[in-house]
Formats: sequence, C-alpha cells, structure tokens
Amino acid sequence: MTTQIITVANQKGGVGKTTTAISLAACLAEAGRPVLLVDLDPQANATSGLGIEKQPGASAYAPLLGQGKLEDKIQPTAFDRLWLIPSEVDLCGAEIELMRIEEPVQVLRRALAPIRETGRFEVVLIDCPPSLSLLTMNAFAAAAHLLVPLQCEYYALEGIATIHRLLNQLRESGANPDLALLGVVMTMFDARTRLSRQVVDEVRRHFGELLFETVIPRTTRLAEAPSFGKPILHYDPYCSATAAYQVLTGEIISRLKI
Ligand code: ADP
Ligand code: MG
Repeated sequence: MTTQIITVANQKGGVGKTTTAISLAACLAEAGRPVLLVDLDPQANATSGLGIEKQPGASAYAPLLGQGKLEDKIQPTAFDRLWLIPSEVDLCGAEIELMRIEEPVQVLRRALAPIRETGRFEVVLIDCPPSLSLLTMNAFAAAAHLLVPLQCEYYALEGIATIHRLLNQLRESGANPDLALLGVVMTMFDARTRLSRQVVDEVRRHFGELLFETVIPRTTRLAEAPSFGKPILHYDPYCSATAAYQVLTGEIISRLKI
C-alpha cells in the first residue's frame, strides 16, 4: 500500500484545520482506510479531540530531535483503523531545538520515512500549528499533498498567497519537489448569510477546480464534539457536518486515486 501524506495547513488560527484533520481522519478510517493522524500543534487540539490525554514524552518531539523512533510514538485511538501521534506542550521546545540542527526542515520527512515504507497506513494526515513555523515547514516538507481549510469570512484569501509562495519555494529549492496543493476547503459556511456565498464564489474564481465542491457548514455540533473526545462522525453520525465531511472524504479519495 502506498502511503499518501497530507498536510493540513493555514497560518491563521481558528479556520478549521484541526476539525478538518480529525473529521477526515475518522471518515477515511470508516471508509476502510488505515489512517495515522500526526498532531504537530503544541496546543494538542487534535490529541484531545480524539479523547487522548496529553502525556509528557508521548509526542514527536524526541524523534524529531533524533532521539528514538517516530513509529514508537504511534498510539491506537478508540476508533477502528485510526491511529495518532499525539502532541503535548513540549513540542513548543522542538521549534527552538530544531533551529540548532542541520537541515531542520527535513527531520519529520526523515522520521516518517520508515512508517511510510511499511505501508501500514494508507493516509497520514498532519495537523499543523497556526503559524508558518519550523514545525509547519517540516509538515510541508514531509507531505506530497497540501490541504488548506479557509474560513468563510472576509479576507479568507489573505494569507493564501504566502502559502503558495512557501509551496513554490519548497518545490524549487528541492526541499520537497513533490509537494502540490491537493485542494482548498471552505469551512464554517453559513447558508443564511450572503457573505458566506460571496466568499465561496470569490475563492472559486481564484482556485477553480482546486476548491472542493463540498463546503463544511457552520454547526455547533462540530464545536461540541472535541469536548467529548470524538470525531463528528462518532459524536453525531447524522448531522450535516458529518455528511459534509463524508462527501469531502469521497472527493479526496478520488483526487488521491486511492
Ligand atoms: P484551527 O485548527 O484552524 O485553529 P479549529 O478546527 O480548532 O481551527 O476550529 C476553531 C474553532 O471553531 C473550534 O472551537 C472548533 O470546534 C470550531 N469549528 C471548526 N469548524 C467549525 C464549523 N464548521 N462549525 C462550527 N464550529 C466550528
Ligand atoms: Mg488547530
């Protein structure tokens, strides 16, 4: 099995990165695909959102700095076919430590290589911090696919130029020649407001087919799910957000040709 590595990134916070990463991971697992979610945000929202307690020493921190193997940090979750490399606040320190080593942007790619080679997972999803920090750069360097969630709000497109530039830099510098934009997904869509529709139209003009057909509705169910430690699919299998993430999963599966 070839492992597809997808980085979920946007340097803005609160746009739905973690929600999208958890929801897609759960839907892919449900669809029969073994998934590894890597929580690379020191805030550890993906970790707690999957009902896993933060534990010192459980994150990618040590392996990223060359101590131990990343595969030893993989944990099962309460959900079939869904595995996690958790985060904890220590990961903040990794930023600083990474600056001292050679080729600091390639460490995650190298640490993931043995996991990729086993073919144990069909998809690896990386949830990034809300910054273009060294951790995020590592996630960009490690993946073949970039997935960008954009919130349906004014200025949604702001910042996307920066992501594009970074993507091109990584490609041209040879740091990651394979990286490509898998797609942009609009989150927190409010059907009652004209603003949401205008934003989606604007993003569609800009990205064309790279914008996923599926838009994720704004619903309190999605905001509630993390406090129960469950992906939306398991928290409320029949709500609109679950349906949306399932359709998005179908789009992703067909784009990845898996
Ligand atoms: P990020 O990881 O980009 O910082 P999150 O996924 O953590 O963003 O989302 C930010 C907040 O918005 C969280 O409290 C989350 O539960 C909530 N949220 C995310 N998507 C939706 C949505 N479609 N509808 C309602 N609330 C949402
Ligand atoms: Mg997040």
